[in-house]
Amino acid sequence: IVNSMELKIPSKSINESFARSVVSAFVLQLDPTINELSDIKTAVSEAVTNSIVHGYRDSSGIIYIKGEISEDNLITIKIRDKGRGIPDIKKAMEPLFTTGGEERAGLGFAVMESFMDKVKVKSKENQGTTVTLYK
Ligand code: ATP
Ligand code: MG
Repeated sequence: IVNSMELKIPSKSINESFARSVVSAFVLQLDPTINELSDIKTAVSEAVTNSIVHGYRDSSGIIYIKGEISEDNLITIKIRDKGRGIPDIKKAMEPLFTTGGEERAGLGFAVMESFMDKVKVKSKENQGTTVTLYK
């Protein structure tokens, strides 16, 4: 690891754009293209929004974000919540699957997977969820 950062924010919707800006500023040191930067920002937004609207649906809590840059300029971003968790990760990651009703498209994970090189999800019911984004 050549550089790293950690961010801890309450699950308020105003913090979604804050998290996106912080990650963007962190990643800027790698001189990303406009497209790379926008892909990472979009993926981070989706993951943070999920923690806010699903993880902490009926509560509020803290969202933990960790960024790492490796020797070979690979970026890892972890977004963790201690919310409700995901009972069936495979199903949750299917495009169009949502527990969010009419106002959600069920495309957040699909967006993360198409905009990043790899997406890993770890989750335990009633304990929380960690999404790791790689680029
Ligand atoms: P969209 O992202 O298009 O607004 P969505 O959030 O429902 O809709 P995804 O982001 O793909 O779609 O997530 C799919 C489902 O996975 C969610 O509906 C929710 O049930 C579950 N999920 C995702 N992230 C979390 C999380 N952090 N905690 C609990 N459940 C989650
Ligand atoms: Mg979503």
